[in-house]
Amino acid sequence: MTGVLLPPAVVGIVGAGTMGAGIAEVAAAAGHPVLLFDAVLGAAEGAKARIAESLSARAAQGRIAPAAATAAAARISVVRALAGLAPATLAIEATPEDEAAKRELFIALEAVAGEDAVLATNTSSLSITALARGLKRPERFAGMHFFNPAPAMKLVEIVRGRATAFTVAALLFETALSWGKTPVHVRDSPGFIVNRVARPFYLEALSLYEDSADPATLDAIMREQGGFRMGPFELMDLIGHDVNFAVTSAVFEAFARDPRFAPSRAQAEFVASGRL
Ligand code: NAD
Repeated sequence: MTGVLLPPAVVGIVGAGTMGAGIAEVAAAAGHPVLLFDAVLGAAEGAKARIAESLSARAAQGRIAPAAATAAAARISVVRALAGLAPATLAIEATPEDEAAKRELFIALEAVAGEDAVLATNTSSLSITALARGLKRPERFAGMHFFNPAPAMKLVEIVRGRATAFTVAALLFETALSWGKTPVHVRDSPGFIVNRVARPFYLEALSLYEDSADPATLDAIMREQGGFRMGPFELMDLIGHDVNFAVTSAVFEAFARDPRFAPSRAQAEFVASGRL
């Protein structure tokens, strides 16, 4: 295995939602043939069309040459079964945040993938070590955590579980670098880096809100005085309170209910009332 995955190595994507589509776009723009699979009929086709639109928009903004955008869109093929991902040297999973479902999926994916293939998950908050349980080759499994929107966000966390081989983490790191990203290595730990350090950003803001502070004012202070691109409430609105609450709850549990990470009651109410 070389230290970097270069085209024409095939990249497989499992789950063609927000993140899967974004990662497929990044890999295709870097020159890789991309195989896109989604369990819902028509979802991958829909994602392929959205990726083509996104690439054209980026071309219109001058971020990518028009011919490169057209070529990248043409590199994406839809496959209708998991077995269609067999040619992939790297398969990246971006299905919903459900540990049991992801584990089952990786066991099935490993059965169809080549022996040398690297399997990666885009999970935000699940343990890489736990997801690797049941795999025959857990050393070839790691986290490759992109941020939303994947084509625009530079940071990628390369997460090593207990069994992940250093060579595999290094391969993912170098590959992300060659895709124009800014990768960082991190050992498997609750929330990895970003979702851990960001917890107080959300939780203190929610606590101030519970003490009657005005969200728009807090957002403005963080933007204009703190130099943040977005305030905590704008960011939670973008992420969705359901997703944000689920990540906080997972980090809280993983840290043995350390009160520092206790989920906010106000946010629990937003989720319960459907104000996501
Ligand atoms: P999403 O709901 O937009 O997309 C998930 C897709 O997976 C759907 O199209 C669904 O049909 C498909 N799917 C479900 N089960 C499947 C299966 N067994 N096989 C194939 N396809 C299947 O989700 P998302 O927001 O893209 O999140 C995906 C992953 O990325 C999650 O682990 C999430 O925590 C992580 N993540 C999300 C964000 C974000 O801001 N949305 C950011 C970073 C990481």
